[in-house]
Amino acid sequence: MSALANEQIVSIRCDGSEAFMPWQKAIVEQLATAYQAQRLPHALLLLGPQFVGKTVFAREFARMLLCSAPQDDQACGQCKSCLLCAAGTHPDWLNVQPETPRKILKVDTIRFVQSRLQQTAQQGGKKVCVIGPAEQMNENAANALLKILEEPPSDTYFILISHHAGKILPTILSRCQRVSFVVPPQEQLAQWLGSSHSAAEVEAAMAQGRGLPGRAYDLLNNEQASGLDRSSIESVFESLLANKKTAQELAGSFETEQLPEVLDSFMRLINGCIKSKQSDVGSNRPNALDRLSQAALQKLYAHLTTAKRVLDQNANPRLLMESLLLQCVVIYHEFNS
Ligand SMILES: [Zn+2]
Repeated sequence: MSALANEQIVSIRCDGSEAFMPWQKAIVEQLATAYQAQRLPHALLLLGPQFVGKTVFAREFARMLLCSAPQDDQACGQCKSCLLCAAGTHPDWLNVQPETPRKILKVDTIRFVQSRLQQTAQQGGKKVCVIGPAEQMNENAANALLKILEEPPSDTYFILISHHAGKILPTILSRCQRVSFVVPPQEQLAQWLGSSHSAAEVEAAMAQGRGLPGRAYDLLNNEQASGLDRSSIESVFESLLANKKTAQELAGSFETEQLPEVLDSFMRLINGCIKSKQSDVGSNRPNALDRLSQAALQKLYAHLTTAKRVLDQNANPRLLMESLLLQCVVIYHEFNS
């Protein structure tokens, strides 16, 4: 089998605009020192909750390992390797991730990685393979990776990312140096986010993002890019409450992989309604949600928070969305009868 491409190997443009986060400094220093002393293990496993910055760290560290002239524990940003990383075309950097958030990583992908890494580095330096989330490898993929880790190709570093260490094969765990990431002190997070946003915006994003840097950052910077816009979520509510469509039909109208984002968008919308009611701003386009009382909105938000937690525990997303939409109808009629 000589596949030229694999849909789970993705090109990432990494130009240094996402630098290491300030609280990651100690980890960077420790690993970079080991690297300079040629003591860096060939496999690292970055562990910690989702959205604490492991992926950004993995990419920045990969860039540093590939750079031909790193300075102060960071990639120089100017050498040929750095330019290739910025263009997303570095031939010696394999970035393995599922096509959509919940898909598994397949054994074919790991075999593809293996054949690519057996070749000499095309840029003459190191080769780096970032795999995440590593717990999404199925058993065959994990076993194939284990074989590679047991006899690693020369000049190659693996950076595995995992939100659930308990789901990683113990034999893989034992082959990696574990690096733990935790939720940063909230003061430090506020300071980091605050460089380009007002204190009130930062506070709101941190509360809504549950103190997780990745979430809070996205809420402040990429709101348009992720999730659905306000009007499409509103129209879901409208057709549900006006009995134009059933909860089942509406839940089925989203892609399964899209549901975590849909849920986030729902939460942002309800949160916005709660806030505008608190400040008595009101809405200039009254809709089903604006007719809900503050108590009803609070109850709805509590349901969404629970749903979000259940979804994180790998519940069936479609059934979850269906029951959530049914709860919305119940709450609506309870408070508007
Ligand atoms: Zn460089």
